[in-house]
Amino acid sequence: MDIRTVEVGNVHIGDGVPVLIAGPCSVENISMLREIAAAAVRAGVSILRGGSFKPRTSPYSFQGLGVEGFEMLNQVKMEFNIPVVSEVMAVDQIDSALKYIDMIQVGARNMHNFPLLSALGKTDKPVLLKRGFMATIEEWLMAAEYLIKEGNDRVVLCERGIRTFEPWTRNTLDISAVPLARMLGGYPVIVDPCHASGRRDILEPLSLAGLAAGADGIMLEVHPDPDKALSDGGQSLSIPGLMDLAEKLIGKNI
Ligand code: PEP
Ligand code: MN
Repeated sequence: MDIRTVEVGNVHIGDGVPVLIAGPCSVENISMLREIAAAAVRAGVSILRGGSFKPRTSPYSFQGLGVEGFEMLNQVKMEFNIPVVSEVMAVDQIDSALKYIDMIQVGARNMHNFPLLSALGKTDKPVLLKRGFMATIEEWLMAAEYLIKEGNDRVVLCERGIRTFEPWTRNTLDISAVPLARMLGGYPVIVDPCHASGRRDILEPLSLAGLAAGADGIMLEVHPDPDKALSDGGQSLSIPGLMDLAEKLIGKNI
């Protein structure tokens, strides 16, 4: 089955050339976003990520900057000429995302949020649909159908690990899901080794495994000072770490 190509700004996902998506787990302020964007562009990253509505396990953890973070992403997007992806968790966040964001992420926890999917299906924005951590491949593809049914076929899937009994990783990267979702769904698949593993020390082999399995791209979290990150620092690359891994994955580092 042919994989449909999804255009995000001037980036084509699914055309046979793997893309890199990278950025902070959370947008914390504009200066860290600029610093990351500058490095990302140098590293050959095609799309800048940054969460601003954050689905945190604890309600007492940093919840993200909301629309203010979208405005920062939009600002940095214009300064560095790079499209941006960010998450929405609720239908009432879609309007501002449409204004500022090039690709809308539906996170693992919202893969089953059918009203959210249907509402995004009525837009023409590309959607990065993460696999729920308890979702079968079929359930994930059916979640994508909620978008398609409403008319939005600009779907990119993201394998970000599923929950298993293994405690040494945050989740378990399901490599078989990469070729299966591509074959059975026909949508491009991005691998997110950061949320799959929860640990920076195995991002390189997991990313390479993702590409070897046919992934259309890799999404990485990066932070100028990972140990001080407001979310997901332990699984985030430093800026030199991003430069190094990007070189190994796409060899465009200069
Ligand atoms: C994220 O991308 O930062 C995120 C919250 O991912 P997930 O929904 O896969 O946990
Ligand atoms: Mn994260």
